[in-house]
Amino acid sequence: MKKTFFSLVTAALMALSLNAQDKVTKTVLELGRTDNRTMEHADYIARNIGGRIVGSHMLHHAEDWVIQQFRSWGLDVTVQEAVEIGVGFDRGPWSGRMLSEDGMMLHFGTPAYTAGTRGPQKGRVLLEPKNQWEFDRVKGALKGSWVLLETGPTSGLAIDASPKADSTRAALLAEGKEGTVLMYRQMVDAGVLGFIRPSKLPMQVLYNRAMCFDLTMDNLPKACDILLDEHQFAQIKQKVVDRQDFQLEFDIRNHFFPGPMKYHNILAVIKGTQYPDEYVMMGSHLDAYDIATGSTDDGQGVCVTLEAARLLAAAGAKPKRSIMFCIWTAEEYGLLGSKYFVQNKTIPWNKISNYFNRDGGPLAATSITVPPAMYDDFMKACEPLFDYNPDIPFTVTKREGEPQARPTTAGGSDHAYFAMNGIPAISFRESDIFGYDFIYRDIWHTEDDLYDKLIPAYMEHSAVVQAVTAYGLANLNHLLSRDGLYKD
Ligand SMILES: [Zn+2]
Repeated sequence: MKKTFFSLVTAALMALSLNAQDKVTKTVLELGRTDNRTMEHADYIARNIGGRIVGSHMLHHAEDWVIQQFRSWGLDVTVQEAVEIGVGFDRGPWSGRMLSEDGMMLHFGTPAYTAGTRGPQKGRVLLEPKNQWEFDRVKGALKGSWVLLETGPTSGLAIDASPKADSTRAALLAEGKEGTVLMYRQMVDAGVLGFIRPSKLPMQVLYNRAMCFDLTMDNLPKACDILLDEHQFAQIKQKVVDRQDFQLEFDIRNHFFPGPMKYHNILAVIKGTQYPDEYVMMGSHLDAYDIATGSTDDGQGVCVTLEAARLLAAAGAKPKRSIMFCIWTAEEYGLLGSKYFVQNKTIPWNKISNYFNRDGGPLAATSITVPPAMYDDFMKACEPLFDYNPDIPFTVTKREGEPQARPTTAGGSDHAYFAMNGIPAISFRESDIFGYDFIYRDIWHTEDDLYDKLIPAYMEHSAVVQAVTAYGLANLNHLLSRDGLYKD
């Protein structure tokens, strides 16, 4: 009798909690349709923040904004210092033109942490001297000139202007490797304004890691490092070969200031009611290259993560297990933020159910493939998504065949250090389901990484998918099984 009574009470409590869970999920699905704010977040990032490279004030502004958003929705926020850089770098506007009868505006960019000009600076144009004889022939003309470097199209990296690179080049020249080595130091010492290299379009403009972390206010680069539209480059080069009389003028506002500048992972939590020390996690990175606005890489990921958090908070979610939303720093510098989080065991590795990373195109999360041991749990967690949006169906697939080996090197994105340490880091499969001819390569790390490349329907849908799935997994009465996740 007693036993039956107890079972009845347990059953009633379970039903109550199931009802509460259903209600939360229903509210998330409903708000996802009627009050989805993913694109409001994207608007703020593009309009008010823009490019946000490690070292910049804008990345601090972005951090403050993310913290304030999470707190305004009632989440617990922890700010984890993960990266420090000695010298800060902020970018202002840049412009350039060719001064001649057939003059033109120049289409160019400069990698981060490279020198700007002192306001508009005009100069004639020379071809790079390739050996001592050629150098001697132009050494008097180099001062105040722009020098064309006939490298093949670059991948957007800066010329290595570090003292170490200088000594490597000097050693090669001493070995008689003239003609293959850039006479960088000699030209800078002769007083060139800067170097101009051809760039494919859309332009990729990055930085040079060797230079930014070793930089001090005493060894800042002095000569500009310009990547110019390869078609304009060819036109200008022909004029130089023809020995025409013309000048180029550049005005580049690249500003350095003393640090140290510190950057942070922002970790927001909806605390679990039964297993608060266990976590379902999701995340994306806040830092972005600064030639454009980092709207897709990884602004869109940040917006989806933020909106998943907001939807769950607005629905009053009280999951059994904690859900953590991670906004990482310094991904573009070698996954530094997420690496720090994992290696410092911020959350014990065996307490993480899964980490979902979002860092790719602004596409729709349409399916997930999981090992057989996780299949039933994912089917249960994702069930509310199966008939949510008939235009964007969602499926869970059981992985066929043998598991892959655990990765041993970090690549890709912020899921890497989780996966390398055997923590489940299964991501959603994202697709261009409406066929918008989206190719991430067209945008990735380029001047075209702008707000207008975002696809609202896909991003809004993905926020709902991430919220519902994380909530479902957080309400299981166990962590996801790691059986058959990796080969070992
Ligand atoms: Zn990215």
